[in-house]
Amino acid sequence: MQLQDQSLWRQQAYIGGEWCDAAGGAVIAVNNPADNSPLGSVPDMGEAETRRAIAAADAALPAWRRKTGKERGAILRRWHELILQNIDDLALIMTLENGKPLAEARGEVHYALSFVEWFAEEAKRIYGDVLPNTRSDQRLMAIRQPIGVCAAITAWNFPCALVTRKVSPALAAGCTVVLKPAELTPYSALALAELGRRAGIPDGVFNIVTGNPVAIGRELSGSSIVRKLTFTGSTATGRLLMEQCASNIKKLSLELGGNAPFIVFDDADIDQAVDGLMFSKFRNAGQTCVCANRVFVQENIAAEFSARLQRKVNALRVGNGLQDGVEQGPLINAAAIDKVQRLVADAIDKGAQVLTGGALHALGGLFYQPTVLSGITPAMTIAHEEIFGPVVALSTFTTEQQALDMANDSAAGLAAYFYAGNIDRVWRVMEQLEYGMVGVNTGMISNEVGPFGGIKESGVGREGSRYGMEEFMELKYVCMAGKL
Ligand code: ADP
Repeated sequence: MQLQDQSLWRQQAYIGGEWCDAAGGAVIAVNNPADNSPLGSVPDMGEAETRRAIAAADAALPAWRRKTGKERGAILRRWHELILQNIDDLALIMTLENGKPLAEARGEVHYALSFVEWFAEEAKRIYGDVLPNTRSDQRLMAIRQPIGVCAAITAWNFPCALVTRKVSPALAAGCTVVLKPAELTPYSALALAELGRRAGIPDGVFNIVTGNPVAIGRELSGSSIVRKLTFTGSTATGRLLMEQCASNIKKLSLELGGNAPFIVFDDADIDQAVDGLMFSKFRNAGQTCVCANRVFVQENIAAEFSARLQRKVNALRVGNGLQDGVEQGPLINAAAIDKVQRLVADAIDKGAQVLTGGALHALGGLFYQPTVLSGITPAMTIAHEEIFGPVVALSTFTTEQQALDMANDSAAGLAAYFYAGNIDRVWRVMEQLEYGMVGVNTGMISNEVGPFGGIKESGVGREGSRYGMEEFMELKYVCMAGKL
C-alpha cells in the first residue's frame, strides 16, 4: 500500500505520547475485507496497558483542563488542517480496512472533519449562568467544567468520523481521552492520533489502546479515574458496558443499534423518495446504524415505487472500493454475511418475494448482491433485527395510523424517515414517530450541527451539535455568601 505519507500507517498503540506494543509483544491481525489479504497487525493489549493509558490521561488532565477554550480550540483547528491536508491517505486507509468505496471514504473524512471544526469553535463558547439570588447576601451561579478522563469505544463502520465525533468535543471541553477503536479498523484512528500529535495535542491527552475488547472495556468501565464512557456499537455491548459502569456511576453516552423505518406516503415525490432510500440504505453497503431498515410504502403507489427502486438497485456497481465507479463494497466480515443470509432466508421462508438480488455476489468473498425483498411481515426476523447489509425490506400499508404503528413497533429508536407532501401529515407523523432523529423528505440527516442520538434501546446522550459538548462537562452550582 502506498500512502503519500507512509508515517501515517501506524501499527502500534499510542499511550502518553509514545507509540508502543503490548506487554508480551502479542498482536492481532487486521485484514482487508475486499480480498481478505493481510493489512498488518496492532498490539493485542489488555488490562495492564489500559491502566497505563488511563494513568497517562489522568496525568495530562490538569494542564489540559487549565488551558483556555480558545487555546484548546486552536490546537483542534491545527488538527483539522492536518486531517484535510492528508485526506487522500486517510481515505485510502479507510477503504483498505473497512471496504467502503474510496469516494465514500473521502466523504467520511469530510464528515469527520466537520466535528473537529465545529468543536474547535465550540471550545470558545463554554458558558455558565449567573442565577437570580434568593437572598440579598448571596450570589448564585452555575459553571461548566470538564468531566475529566473519558473513555471512548468506537465501531468499525465509521472508522474516522466516530473517533472525531467523540474525541473533538471531549478535548474541546478540557477532558483527556483513552480511545479503543474497533479491532477490525484500527488504522484510521491511529493515523488520526499521529496527526493530532503533529497538531500539538499534548502527550497523554489523546491515547489509543488496541486489542482485547472485553479486557479493555472492563478496565475502562471499572476504573474510577475514568469519569465518562462514550460508546458506539451494538445494543448488546452497550447494555454490558452500562452494567459495568454502574459500579462507579460513570456518566455514559451510548450510540447503539437502530431499526429505522422509512415511510413513503402516496403524496410523496416518488423519485425523491427512491433517491433518499438509495442513499440511506446502500451507504457503506447498508452497514450504518441509521440505514433504512424497514421500508413502508402506501399500497396505491407500491408497484410504481418498487419498479423505480429496482431499476436503481440493479444499476449499483459492486466491487473493490479502490476501483473507480464502485458504489458498494464488501461487508465487513463473515459474521455480517452470515447474518444477512440468515435474515433473507428467514424472510423468504415466511413468504417474502425476492424482487432483485437475494444471494451472495458473483465476486465471492464478502460481497453480497444489492437486494430488494417485498411482502415483509412482522413475523419475519428481518422486521425486528438490524440488517446491516444491502437489503431493502419492503412492506405496504393503507392508512397513516397503520404506517405509524408499524414504524413505532420497535425496541430501537434511533433514526426514522418519511416522505410526504401534505403539511398537516408532515407535522402529525413527525411528532408521533418515536425516534431520536427524523428525516422528512430526506434520507440524509447526519451533520455536525444536528444532535445525533437515539431513544429507547438505541441509547442515551447526543453527539455533535451544541448539545454534544454537554456530554463532556459537569455543571457546578456555586452559592456565594458575603456581607453584601
Ligand atoms: P459491532 O456489531 O458493530 O461490531 P460491537 O458492539 O461488537 O458492535 O463493537 C463495537 C465496539 O465495541 C468495538 O470497538 C468492539 O471492539 C467493542 N466491544 C465489543 N465487545 C466489547 C466489550 N465486551 N467491552 C468493551 N468493548 C467491546
